[in-house]
Amino acid sequence: MKILVVEDEKKVASFIKRGLEEEQYEVETSFDGEEGLKKGLEGGYDLIVLDVMLPKKDGLTVVKELRAKKSATPVLMLTAKDSVEDIVAGLSSGSDDYLTKPFAFAELVARVRALLRRSEQDRGAEIRFNDLRLDPVSHKVWRSDKEIDLTAKEYGLLEYFMRNPNQVLTRTMIAEHVWDYTFDSFTNIIDVYVNYLRKKIDREADKKLIHTVRGVGYILKEED
Ligand code: CA
Repeated sequence: MKILVVEDEKKVASFIKRGLEEEQYEVETSFDGEEGLKKGLEGGYDLIVLDVMLPKKDGLTVVKELRAKKSATPVLMLTAKDSVEDIVAGLSSGSDDYLTKPFAFAELVARVRALLRRSEQDRGAEIRFNDLRLDPVSHKVWRSDKEIDLTAKEYGLLEYFMRNPNQVLTRTMIAEHVWDYTFDSFTNIIDVYVNYLRKKIDREADKKLIHTVRGVGYILKEED
């Protein structure tokens, strides 16, 4: 497993590199956003650990450009900020998870493992529900044969719904499965993402598929 670490603080970068190497990962480092983006686009990495505050190009721009160029490599964002708005900005730009600095190394390793495990599970057969179709290999989604463009997080959320149709999914379950941990007071992030997803999946359709279960969570089903 090969990991790219993009971090301009050389001490932090080498600390992460050494630690991940002890966990048997192969690690390369980049010290600015431009070089990080170039390496990320060249591919060959199973995961990118990306700092937000970077010289030449910030982390949010790097992840947006990676996704715009159809790179599906999982991205773990390192952020010094922990307000809900900044986390939402990071996740909606296309990163898969985030970690607030300063962090314990064990926490970083846990997130890295979870992201790698999830991207392995992604390799699988196409899933269908009603006129929705999802390809876990290419991360493409269609409704009534019309392709729908989703961010990495919206895709993860829809895949979780489609793997568990006709079941009420609580906000806690969604947080744990799609983000791998609970947000505690940040559960409104779930609502924000479900609304993004609904706009893309249901807004122009006659039949709505994602329904709110008031006070509990959400369900993917055919009728209200
Ligand atoms: Ca930095």
